Amino acid sequence: MTERAAPFYCPYCGDEDLRPGEQGHGAWECAACNRAFQLKFVGLLARGLQPNPTGGEPT
Ligand SMILES: [Zn+2]
Repeated sequence: MTERAAPFYCPYCGDEDLRPGEQGHGAWECAACNRAFQLKFVGLLARGLQPNPTGGEPT
């Protein structure tokens, strides 16, 4: 899985003028509100995963 996730909008002001930050991996800077933030992959959601995808009922 790649970690090149790029935000389309600033989560703080909604502007699209984002550029890669200097803080390292996943860091972005918003040129509109001068905020720096970091995207981080925290894990997969268990939601939607079924232990038995065929729908069989445990007996
Ligand atoms: Zn912003």
